[in-house]
Amino acid sequence: MSRVKKLSFKLLQVCFILNMVLMLSMEKVQAREAESSPFFCDTSDQISLKPTAIIWDSENDPYAVIIKWEQLELDVGDTRISITGVSPIDFNYACLYWTINNKDRLAEPQQFKAGYRSRIAGGHWNEWFTTSKIEYIDHLDRYVAPFYMAVWGEVHQEFEITLTFPAGVKIKTLGLHLANHRNNAESSGFELGLRSQEDTAVQSLPGRPTIIPRSQWWGDLPSSDLNSPRRPPVYRNITHAIIHHTGAHPHNDQPTAADAANWVRSIWRWNAVDQGWGDIRYNFIIDRFGNIYHGRFNPELDATTPRDVIGGHAFTDTTNYNRGSMGIAFLGLFDQQLPTIAARNSADWLIAWRFNLRVLDPLGQAMLEDKNVHRITSHNAVDDETGCPYPLIINHLTDMRWNVSRRMRVVTSPNGGETFTAGRTIMTRWSFPAISGNVRIQFSSNGGSTWTTIFSSTPNDGSQSWTIPLDFFTARGRIRVNSINNPDIHDMSNANFNILVPPLSR
Ligand SMILES: [Zn+2]
Repeated sequence: MSRVKKLSFKLLQVCFILNMVLMLSMEKVQAREAESSPFFCDTSDQISLKPTAIIWDSENDPYAVIIKWEQLELDVGDTRISITGVSPIDFNYACLYWTINNKDRLAEPQQFKAGYRSRIAGGHWNEWFTTSKIEYIDHLDRYVAPFYMAVWGEVHQEFEITLTFPAGVKIKTLGLHLANHRNNAESSGFELGLRSQEDTAVQSLPGRPTIIPRSQWWGDLPSSDLNSPRRPPVYRNITHAIIHHTGAHPHNDQPTAADAANWVRSIWRWNAVDQGWGDIRYNFIIDRFGNIYHGRFNPELDATTPRDVIGGHAFTDTTNYNRGSMGIAFLGLFDQQLPTIAARNSADWLIAWRFNLRVLDPLGQAMLEDKNVHRITSHNAVDDETGCPYPLIINHLTDMRWNVSRRMRVVTSPNGGETFTAGRTIMTRWSFPAISGNVRIQFSSNGGSTWTTIFSSTPNDGSQSWTIPLDFFTARGRIRVNSINNPDIHDMSNANFNILVPPLSR
């Protein structure tokens, strides 16, 4: 199509006002004044279309409705639709989907623009939000635009939506999904306290961080979906961690942890239902308080022989990078700031725990499908078409790899507080998983100020017996273990231990 013709289509552009009359008291819900929306066109061609169906969506979500306009017959020159209305339910989640008539798919998702704003009935509108995340979902044969949501906890009643599309595209069906995920956040019995995962004993073996199980953030989502029957788990042990952001709103827009849990429920809804993937796509989500949410269903996470489950967070048209990777998403958008320290600590700990279990080097690189990438990598390192995550997080990954390494490579004994006697033989123990080559073991009698090498090279097998020389008495003893191949990898006893002078003997 020529530019001139495109332009003339634009000039002919007509807006439809699909006046929704959803409440029983119909006279109360009048068409909004054209001036109230910058997207309204006040033309003589205004046509009002009532929705053809309003469906309770209880199968997917107990506080949800789908409002549909089917069999739309728009004029050939139409390139914009505006919808305004009042919802029959309070909502804090909204997404729009549409199908097109054209037999061949004419339009790329980025050729559409979807704008959204909403408000408490009669209140102030929030700012127009134009989503850049429109997707064409192959297996559902439709486009979807997420608008979520009032993550700070407000529920809204009124909305305005605009959809602009390329001339020649014939919109066949429009559907608006509205849901309320605020329900029961506080009454589920879950102490959504601020759970900063500040690990004070960083230099001990990385145990399991606290992970909020699905049952605790699930709220009133359908209990039949808790164990993910639409997307039964498929297992593959991890070799990598892939870092994401969830997007949508700034990280710090979660005033309370209950709001964050609300947001996680909306992500489930978006991924499982509206994108049609059957379950949440990330394996784990971390909010700004450091809460770690168990995402994709994995009943074997803590089994006697734990297994990892394949998520749905990283794939391209040709390659599935979910196989063998744990998808971890920081909740929010990070264009201005990094995740909070609490959130970063939780991510470090979570990865250290799982990498320790799988004996993976957090500083290393390895093949993931067809790409040789860092074991702790970013979404856009495997998919160059995504803007996830933003550069701030990507630039943080070097620090993150070292933080995880320090949590994993630890001296465990002596680790402080012990009392030994010079001349006796003790075991020194450490855990330095996934490093090559031998280690060096050193001793300090002054709390780590200076070091004496006691084993210059010994196999990295986790223990070495040591007969304490008779003149090594101190109240400030420490042991340090170093990787010989990578001297930056080292750890020492967390605190001082004592070595006593042996008793006099004849
Ligand atoms: Zn991502």
